[in-house]
Amino acid sequence: MKSMEKIVSLCKRRGFLFQSSEIYGGVQGFWDYGPLGVELKRNLKDAWWSDMIRGHNNLLVPEGAPSSYEMVGLDCTIIMHPQVWKNSGHYDLFHDHMVDCRESKKRYRFDQVRGRWCQRGETKVFVSTLAEAEHEADEVRRRAMKFFKLRAKNADELTVGDESLTLDRLDDTKSVLAPDAKSLDTLTDPREFNLMFKTTLGALGGEDDVTFLRPETAQGIFVNFKNVLDSSRVKVPFGIGQVGKSFRNEITPRNFTFRSREFEQMEIEFFCPPDQSQQWYRYWRDRRLAWYTELGLSSESLIMREHHTEELAHYSVGTADIEYAFPFLPPGEYGELEGIAHRGDFDLRSHMEGKLDPNSPEGQPMQVELNEHGKPKYRGSGKDLSYRDEVTNEKFVPHVIEPSAGADRGALAFLCEAYTEDQAPDDKGNMQTRTVMKLHPRLAPLKAAVFPLVKKDGMPEIAKEIYGNLKQHFNVFYDDKGAVGRRYRRQDEAGTPYCITVDGDSVSEGTVTIRDRDSLEQTRVKIDDVVSEITQRMS
Ligand code: ATP
Repeated sequence: MKSMEKIVSLCKRRGFLFQSSEIYGGVQGFWDYGPLGVELKRNLKDAWWSDMIRGHNNLLVPEGAPSSYEMVGLDCTIIMHPQVWKNSGHYDLFHDHMVDCRESKKRYRFDQVRGRWCQRGETKVFVSTLAEAEHEADEVRRRAMKFFKLRAKNADELTVGDESLTLDRLDDTKSVLAPDAKSLDTLTDPREFNLMFKTTLGALGGEDDVTFLRPETAQGIFVNFKNVLDSSRVKVPFGIGQVGKSFRNEITPRNFTFRSREFEQMEIEFFCPPDQSQQWYRYWRDRRLAWYTELGLSSESLIMREHHTEELAHYSVGTADIEYAFPFLPPGEYGELEGIAHRGDFDLRSHMEGKLDPNSPEGQPMQVELNEHGKPKYRGSGKDLSYRDEVTNEKFVPHVIEPSAGADRGALAFLCEAYTEDQAPDDKGNMQTRTVMKLHPRLAPLKAAVFPLVKKDGMPEIAKEIYGNLKQHFNVFYDDKGAVGRRYRRQDEAGTPYCITVDGDSVSEGTVTIRDRDSLEQTRVKIDDVVSEITQRMS
């Protein structure tokens, strides 16, 4: 059975992920990628960069696209001019609602505290917990038993509701037992908390020098729009992609790397003529969903959730999230992997004119936001970020479609999907349960492992030569320790698609076996053909 606990434990045991600063007790919301994890995440980012940016054919019209288009890349700084965050809206609007517990002094995100109504006699209490979904009901029951001072033999006096709810979905937040409290109603009313990490520029930095670590990579693309247009001769429609770190001071980082405070994004800002934006929005939605299934996420575990009209900023014609059924969520719930947003001309115009008012009357062009003195709240750059179409001579501010994906959430989803327990024969031919990470070969940290059956009789020499030849093309592992069955198992847990074993026949006949991780099939191939065979299987 797949469970988050088993996945987390495998990730640590095999070196996919470690808690940051672990020897000092760790720091919440920060994760380090180990030797296998760094390869997995790099492969994911490379696949994205290659499929979306570098490998994109500028001359062809992709299926479902209204026309051909160009894609280029950028790599922008994490710290930017403080004005960027004022005009982007992050300074005023990038916050979550948090509640503080007066008893435990802990702070929680209002929409993330989850629990159930519990009743004994006439008394009804909402008992909350931060336990993982799979343990939530048990944990709520345990806390409720303690709260009502019930002994095990009186357990049937307690009723625990079937429905798991978050605090923000309660009609009435009275009678709430906070996740770490012993008495009732210790939570404050929800308050706003800005998620950007603050920092100061220079040694003498004053109020005006306060800036932020970027909470998204997108803004670097918007402020470079003109630079890219002027330097690379691209024509609208075109997209700019960027992969890089983003930082959010999440109130309750949790669920492994799903909600971290430092994470990586893979974002595209796609600029198009306003009258084509709907078509491009649909195109990017479908294209991005297909990308995840091509790399191995099962379509049963993925959904495309269109935001309701009430959830949309009014400048936005549509936003859809690609969501995955992470094992830490209750059945039927999904967590966001990527958002695809139609952002209209909001960003480019805000950086030109000053922050636009997201509450401008609907149907009207958006107005610059004014302060209490009727003056523009924040000044814009004053630079002309519009575009003139060479053919029609029409001048317009392009509309933007933004497919914004998280590399860490992506890596986590592929790890969760890959985790499999099945039956495989051990060294003596007895069937045993094995844990295998069925990662797509493009994502697998190691593409192959080479084993000499024994450390003598000329086998290591042949194995080392094969290893050296493969290393020129792929990340490959050499292992001569322990029984071959054990070595297979280690590679199964690492997700290595192919194991190559050098045995007595290799010495006498010049052949080796290639074992397939998923089918367990073993085929004999000539030593000289190993590189081409693995190359062909990988493609
Ligand atoms: P959420 O609602 O889960 O906080 P969001 O809607 O704020 O996410 P976006 O601003 O759309 O997220 O960011 C784009 C992508 O960046 C997300 O789909 C996700 O993959 C990733 N991402 C956002 N916040 C985090 C985080 N704290 N940790 C890891 N990845 C994140």
